[in-house]
This record gives sequence, structure tokens and C-alpha cells, in this order.
Amino acid sequence: MKFCPECEVKLKKSSSGLQCSKCGYTEGQKIKQTKKVLDDQEPNKEFNVFEGNEGEESLPTIKIECEKCGNDEAVWWMLQTRSADEPTTQFYRCSKCKYTWRNYA
Ligand SMILES: [Zn+2]
Ligand SMILES: [Zn+2]
Repeated sequence: MKFCPECEVKLKKSSSGLQCSKCGYTEGQKIKQTKKVLDDQEPNKEFNVFEGNEGEESLPTIKIECEKCGNDEAVWWMLQTRSADEPTTQFYRCSKCKYTWRNYA
């Protein structure tokens, strides 16, 4: 006989497994697997944040080498992508060729 770890009530058999009639705890319940979808294949929609926008000039610059043209200066900004539980991503944009990439910190 199994007991609920929460309220120590005897678990009863239910369709989804052994279940506590008091709190609804179900033993052996499958944990929902949240599929981590790799979004690298998506079009770079985050990169268009400044399209038609003002403000790029006011962005801070950083000494970093552009892998496209070898220029050593880029503007950077932080962007919260999608859900709030994702880490903030840092973006760089080459001040010369406008190539934009992101920093996976
Ligand atoms: Zn319970
Ligand atoms: Zn560049």
C-alpha cells in the first residue's frame, strides 16, 4: 500500500495511476516533457528589431571583431527572446557591414 507523500492518505488506483483522493497527487504520473525546439533554423527575426526603427546610433559600442569584415567595433544590445524564463541574449551589430550576431552567454 502506498501513501501520498503530501498528506499521507492512502493512494487509490485511478486511470492515471495511484492517486491521492485528497490532494490529487498521482504516483508515477508522467512528467510533461517540454520539447526544446532548436530555433536556430528559424529566420532571424530577432535581428530585425531595428528595421525601420530609430535608435541604433544611441546604442553602446564594444570592441569586438566582426567575423564577416574584420571590423573591430560593433554596437550591442540586450534582448529578451520569447518567454521570460529564457536568458537575455546579447546582440552585436558590426558598425561597418551591419552584420548582426548574438552572444550565447
Ligand atoms: Zn495527497
Ligand atoms: Zn562587419
